[in-house]
Amino acid sequence: MKHAIVVGCGVVGLSSAIRLVEAGFEVEIWTRDLPPRTTSSVAGAIWYPYKVAPADKVARWAHATYAALEKLVGDESSGVVMRLGTELVPAGVPERATAAAAEYRRCARSLRELHPEFLPPGFSRGFEMQVPIAEMPLYLEYLLRRFERAGGRVIERTLDTLERAVEACECVVNCTGLASRELCNDREMKAVRGQILRVERGAIERFVLDDFDARGVTYVIPRSKDCILGGTTDEGAEELVPDEAATRSILARCASIEPQLQQARILSVAVGLRPGRSAVRLEKSTPRPGRTLIHNYGHGGAGLTLSWGCADDVLALAR
Ligand SMILES: Cc1cc2nc3c(=O)[nH]c(=O)nc-3n(C[C@H](O)[C@H](O)[C@H](O)COP(=O)(O)OP(=O)(O)OC[C@H]3O[C@@H](n4cnc5c(N)ncnc54)[C@H](O)[C@@H]3O)c2cc1C
Repeated sequence: MKHAIVVGCGVVGLSSAIRLVEAGFEVEIWTRDLPPRTTSSVAGAIWYPYKVAPADKVARWAHATYAALEKLVGDESSGVVMRLGTELVPAGVPERATAAAAEYRRCARSLRELHPEFLPPGFSRGFEMQVPIAEMPLYLEYLLRRFERAGGRVIERTLDTLERAVEACECVVNCTGLASRELCNDREMKAVRGQILRVERGAIERFVLDDFDARGVTYVIPRSKDCILGGTTDEGAEELVPDEAATRSILARCASIEPQLQQARILSVAVGLRPGRSAVRLEKSTPRPGRTLIHNYGHGGAGLTLSWGCADDVLALAR
């Protein structure tokens, strides 16, 4: 039997580990933190490619992940649901700036362009579609249970170098997100700080998303018992304490696209550091004869959105 160590237990590490263990590998996850102490636990988390490249691979990974998440909807314990909602395009955004989004949304179910009279003020186009939303506290627990049920083991261990894992195993998969900046001395990695609010859901049933707002992606994501409002996009910022001005801006922006939020009560505020990179690093190297090291990190604002597509590629490389 082939052995593998997956370093990291966020959504990227867990999905990779599940693909490997369910394909017959004997797999251990080595990780510094478990959910809910990972960046993945902070995510909204809606299927939508945001702040991530390269566009052609992102489209392929995103489409594969859409299909994989859709299959989980039947299992209530997964925390994944399909939700109808609208992606908005503000007036004045040039057509070419929306080309990537048009490619991503091609796979979405129930896709249709809305008549402008149904859009909030300031928007020229709107696309109704159905996309998967994962309630991360539930979803990450579900992934952990699924991994362990298939025979995988999780070991809490902080690595000062990936060499420790390479010494121990023939195949290592690096899914350490932003920490790859130090572990791989990767200067292309940078934190992209994001802040979100958790508010009472009220009667909100539909998501609303504006990816083109210069102040940061703006979104309203209803979950089972609450609603996530976002967000901010601060490249290079690493402050983990929530910013009050950002909280007010998020609330105001979200209320302008979802009027039911005018009186919304804030339940909590969270900050996470997206693992930003010029392009996702998903490739295989041979650190020494007989040893394989696969990197799978740098998913920016789209770790959930690309998770299963990337995990499929990890499995192909490991084989
Ligand atoms: C506010 C916010 C909202 C977001 N919303 C969305 C969304 O709606 N949709 C979406 O697709 N994405 C969203 N994202 C992006 C998404 O959260 C990330 O892309 C994703 O979490 C990256 O996952 P990961 O597994 O690579 O990293 P992480 O979740 O950070 O996991 C890294 C793992 O590596 C481990 N590790 C690190 N260093 C070491 C070490 N030295 N030794 C051992 N283990 C180590 C950590 O403990 C952790 O377990 C959002 C992000 C933020 C911040």
